[in-house]
Amino acid sequence: ATPTALLVGTGRGSQLGILIRGPQVLEATRRIDTVLLDKTGTVTTGTMRVTAVLSADGEDADAVLRAAAAAESGSEHPIARAVVAAGAVGSAGTDPAGTDPATRTESFASTAGLGVQALVDGVLVLVGRPVWLRDAWAVTMPESLSTAATEAETAGRTTVAVAWEGRVRGVVVVADTVAPGAAEAVRRLQELGLDTMLLTGDAAGVANSVAAEVGIDRVTAGVRPEDKYRIVTELQAAGRTVAMVGDGVNDAAALAAADLGIAMGTGTDAAVEAADITLVRADLRAAVDAVRLSRRTLRTIR
Ligand code: ADP
Ligand code: MG
Repeated sequence: ATPTALLVGTGRGSQLGILIRGPQVLEATRRIDTVLLDKTGTVTTGTMRVTAVLSADGEDADAVLRAAAAAESGSEHPIARAVVAAGAVGSAGTDPAGTDPATRTESFASTAGLGVQALVDGVLVLVGRPVWLRDAWAVTMPESLSTAATEAETAGRTTVAVAWEGRVRGVVVVADTVAPGAAEAVRRLQELGLDTMLLTGDAAGVANSVAAEVGIDRVTAGVRPEDKYRIVTELQAAGRTVAMVGDGVNDAAALAAADLGIAMGTGTDAAVEAADITLVRADLRAAVDAVRLSRRTLRTIR
């Protein structure tokens, strides 16, 4: 391939809002046959909002939300933003969390793809996936709550459990929206002959609901960041040339390992740094434009 045509291609890319790390990236783009799509923030807008707070027997939903908001205040995750925003209002519109100067949050830590922990007024509060609470903290969900959470997930909602002092106190339900253009992008990727697969750390019910909405038929849910990475390398070992599209810290390893890493421009620095291409406007349709651009550019050269 002549360097000039590739440079023209990358220049054209930037006009389309596609930032390409270097001319050689267009070569990789042309060869891909499989596209892995992260869910939250990639296929969905990642702007979440709290729709319900379910409390365990004897627990107060407002207290659950306040504790969750305080614990999440150190996280940039879309779930955290939604919980903090809801906590600042209060589910009953009273006693706003985060604005209460008496609430002290310390020792925040997050585990990518699983949840967060923090000391809230000296009490360790955990917010995250039930499987993480169980395996890392030996805290299990009461059955009534897990039934309600599964119902919400089947309806396409994301749920996180909130626990302190050895007990799950409630579940926060958050809603996300499929990004405008995501379904069109998936259809166009498929028309270009590419296999599409949804990869998410979220629950299967949510993943299936989003996948159905955008027309993706292969779904892998409940995956940890290292599983995303492993899935990329396994597909490559099976002879696939893989593109990965993602936005999160949890996607960075998979983005770096993929033959072509594509980051959403609204994503985390870790994702953008690991990627070969950044979609400035965070519109999945630009990923399709990138594939078409590379095919066109390399055809002119041949
Ligand atoms: P995705 O793969 O769809 O981008 P993530 O890997 O970021 O999703 O998150 C997977 C799951 O991990 C979430 O659905 C949630 O249950 C849990 N999780 C991640 N970050 C947080 C957080 N800050 N607070 C609560 N739960 C979280
Ligand atoms: Mg994401």
